[in-house]
Amino acid sequence: MENLYIDGAFCEAEGGRAREVINPFDQSVLATVSEGGREDARRAIAAARRAFDDGPWPRMSGEARGRVVAELGRMIERDAEQLARLETLDTGKTLVESREDMKVIAATFAYYAGMADKAGGRVVESPIAGCTSRVVREPVGVCGQISPWNYPLLQAAWKLAPALAAGNTVVVKPSEITPLSTLKLAELVHELRLPPGVVNVVLGPGPEVGDELAGGEGVDLISFTGGVKTGSHIMRRASETIKKVCLELGGKNPNIVFADADFDAAVDYAMLAVFLHSGQVCNAGARLLAHRDIHDELVSALRERIARIRLGSGLDPDTESGPLISAEHRDEVERGVDIARREGCHVEVGGQRPEDDALAAGFFYRPTLVTGARAGMHITREEIFGPVLSVEAFSSEDEAIAAANDTVYGLAGAVWTRDLSRAERVAAGLRAGTVWINDFHPYFPQAEWGGFKRSGLGRELGPTGLEEYTETKHIFANHAPAPSGWFRGEEPQR
Ligand code: NAD
Repeated sequence: MENLYIDGAFCEAEGGRAREVINPFDQSVLATVSEGGREDARRAIAAARRAFDDGPWPRMSGEARGRVVAELGRMIERDAEQLARLETLDTGKTLVESREDMKVIAATFAYYAGMADKAGGRVVESPIAGCTSRVVREPVGVCGQISPWNYPLLQAAWKLAPALAAGNTVVVKPSEITPLSTLKLAELVHELRLPPGVVNVVLGPGPEVGDELAGGEGVDLISFTGGVKTGSHIMRRASETIKKVCLELGGKNPNIVFADADFDAAVDYAMLAVFLHSGQVCNAGARLLAHRDIHDELVSALRERIARIRLGSGLDPDTESGPLISAEHRDEVERGVDIARREGCHVEVGGQRPEDDALAAGFFYRPTLVTGARAGMHITREEIFGPVLSVEAFSSEDEAIAAANDTVYGLAGAVWTRDLSRAERVAAGLRAGTVWINDFHPYFPQAEWGGFKRSGLGRELGPTGLEEYTETKHIFANHAPAPSGWFRGEEPQR
């Protein structure tokens, strides 16, 4: 098994370990792949270091790099169907969702390809006569990139495309439970003949490979998408070597519906907000804040529609929602719903595993609607990361904003109303990195993505997503050098 990609070649893990990749729909073994460890991470970091310090990639023109990044995007588009099927098998999400992921990934490479020769910089009005001053942007160096299991290739692409466009070299570590699409990406990088060491892929456990990337010498920046606890650990480890840190973490995202909203659209999007990828989405709209005047009507429409969501294999075109990623994760989701019950919430629909024999081998949990939630409860503050929608009632705009912000997270949120002044007031009041007005979920490479509070640090996508992968350098030039006067008992000349 040669599944690690280091220094331009596929190779085995030094320790000779292997891991089975499991299909969450039926627990079949999809593949057996190499399981890397610290030694492999160190080899990859050394290769990326050489490629950065001595190789051609950081020294190429932005325009030339942009052409390579664009080509990688086109290859992903070419192989999109194969990649989408891999993603569906590995994560359980529907093929429709995986195809959407591939479109966003291709668009992300195209966007950053176009940015590669626009890193900018600026001429500074120097306060010192006869001198010029400018600020330029340069690549940061070697970047460690750790991605989660819910959007394996999409999260890798959000990191890889800007890092490459800016001239960095990278070591990518996918989640150990969903490595297949990232492995295919390594094949595309190989086909593209990028200089050796520019992109390296190391599979393996987070506490070994990921920890080495976060804490080890030779890495200049660590970018991580995953849970808050892991993010906090990574930040601690990165502090030992003062690495730059970029974190995309969890969310407990409010979806606020006022009584004057377009009712049908609000119901539809409340479902899309939370049941996409069975709720295993960092920006899932897991909290519905409903105005009291429409609360009951909204709950009854949702109850009826949620009960009809079709569960099944992500490959089946009739499936609307797939399984959860693992048995352990389903246990966690169940625990969250149990706590809600104990705290006095009412489970309107779902709240259990399906009884269908055809789904028995998969990690399924029925789409769930919970009412009677209030600010301060576990279900309104903690990420459940599953197909569970809780509903809270509110009476006033201020109450809605305060409840929406009553969580340590601040990734995204939405407001539904026909009153655009109110929409803007609520958008201003939400402490979150993204706010949707009369919509939910749109994200695209042109606009920044990231969180306030414990939802993260730094931004991906948009121009800021490229800046994260650059250092600024001030270059000052004196065009008429002359003795300064200092240390000669004279009045300094400037
Ligand atoms: P996770 O934190 O368990 O794992 C994420 C990655 O970190 C994996 O590759 C894992 O191997 C690695 N890792 C684990 N322990 C590590 C350690 N000690 N040192 C270094 N790396 C380590 O998260 P997950 O369960 O894979 O993903 C779910 C979480 O990701 C959720 O909280 C979700 O909200 C978040 N997420 C956020 C975004 C975003 O854009 N903000 C996007 C997707 C997912």
